[in-house]
Amino acid sequence: MKVLIVEDEYALADAVASAFERNHYQTKICQNGIDGAQEAASGKYDLVILDVMLPGMDGFDILAEIRALQPDVKVIMLTARGELDDKLKGLKNGANDYMTKPFHIEELLARADVQLKAVSAFEEQKLSAFDLELNLKNGELSCKSTGESIPLKGKEYELAEYILRQPPGQILSREQLYNRVWGWDNDLESNNLEAYLSFLRKKMKLIGTGAVIKAVRGMGYRLEEKK
Ligand code: CA
Repeated sequence: MKVLIVEDEYALADAVASAFERNHYQTKICQNGIDGAQEAASGKYDLVILDVMLPGMDGFDILAEIRALQPDVKVIMLTARGELDDKLKGLKNGANDYMTKPFHIEELLARADVQLKAVSAFEEQKLSAFDLELNLKNGELSCKSTGESIPLKGKEYELAEYILRQPPGQILSREQLYNRVWGWDNDLESNNLEAYLSFLRKKMKLIGTGAVIKAVRGMGYRLEEKK
């Protein structure tokens, strides 16, 4: 799970990042609003921790950009003490939750876990869709109908994990998949989306699943049941 922290107070951002990392999240910090907006809209993150007062662009404008481009990403806003208007404005504009400064980082982690519907990324064990199941501990993809399983590695695993985290039948654009899997490390050697999709499809075929990753013309890809 990937968390973006948009906060200009470095000590706070760093403390939040360390706490998330201890809980097995990957984190990135942006200290100004412009970079924050760009990162937040990239599709790489599951959760954005978003301060309101930021240099360059404020948290509400960033929130509006996130909601226009990445409606599913979870956003927790950080508001100054007692600023009820800020809380209401954030919630009305699509923030999932807010924390009032100063706050206990443990509470922020707990609220993040609620938003991500997992006790923590580490303790979450399996993702499933149709007859497919991905074991997050050992990276094995299995088929519940045939009982067969096969290990996934590296980018194949990251692709499968991202696809299985989406609501069933959701179309994912090439850009979303690409940003999500390759945007993080800019590994130019291996960023061939089609190649990795084809490896993943071969493995899905090997375990005999009734689910397929179909290309949807002009839109992207969708995991669906074979007709
Ligand atoms: Ca601030």
